[in-house]
Amino acid sequence: MLSNFKIVLVETSHPGNIGGVARAMKNMTLSELCLVTPKTFPSADATSRAAGSDDILSSATVYETLQEAIADCQVVLGASARDRTISWPEVTARECAEKFVKPAENQSRDKIAIVFGRENSGLKNHELDLCHYLLRIPCNSDYSSLNLAAAVQVVAYELFVASGQQTKSTIGDKNEDNLASAKQMELFYEHLQQTLADIGFLHVDKSQSIMRRLRRIYNRVALDTKEVDILRGILRFSQTHNDK
Ligand code: SAH
Repeated sequence: MLSNFKIVLVETSHPGNIGGVARAMKNMTLSELCLVTPKTFPSADATSRAAGSDDILSSATVYETLQEAIADCQVVLGASARDRTISWPEVTARECAEKFVKPAENQSRDKIAIVFGRENSGLKNHELDLCHYLLRIPCNSDYSSLNLAAAVQVVAYELFVASGQQTKSTIGDKNEDNLASAKQMELFYEHLQQTLADIGFLHVDKSQSIMRRLRRIYNRVALDTKEVDILRGILRFSQTHNDK
């Protein structure tokens, strides 16, 4: 799904970071890693930090120049933490994902490179000149430089979310049962009102305002048929109990 994206790392010094990037990529279903003159690669440190994503490392391509690494790309984004004197068009990681990740049925054939800089000095201006956009991860303005692998992780996560691959949360999900009908709800409210009267909580004749509030509570949660049955079961139980 994200197969038209490639991650390009320029002159990475710490091989462990390359492994961390591979792991972040695989977690988020990215697979194409390009390395421009890495200081040390391959490396045991990279493999150990990759922790099971070494397939990304073994298929990584090493280039002599950034130009070669991005030669097949239609869109190039340079990730930078720093404010630049020249202003490149800027997108946040989320905007990048929203703009460039296309739904599966409308998969873009454009190849998109996201370029990350050196740990100690980032990307140089002449490298950003090769980029169409500057990509920024919004964060603390007094301390804005993320670790390289962490920066890739955030961007890859945004791409993953935008690609719609995340499993939906179950919070607020209703189960399979149908929502209770208006008739079932009315019977429930009558039953509730009667029970509250039976236990002496209210007088049926003077209960309009409290019943209205109780309706508001129950209507807010959109009860299904099984849930109404359970509530009515409780009411029946409390009535029988009260009779004893
Ligand atoms: N000290 C360097 C930053 C190095 S961090 C500097 O001054 O630029 C290594 C790389 O991670 C950066 O080159 C950039 O590609 C990426 N990165 C780190 N923090 C980022 C942020 N807040 N937004 C975008 N990219 C970031």
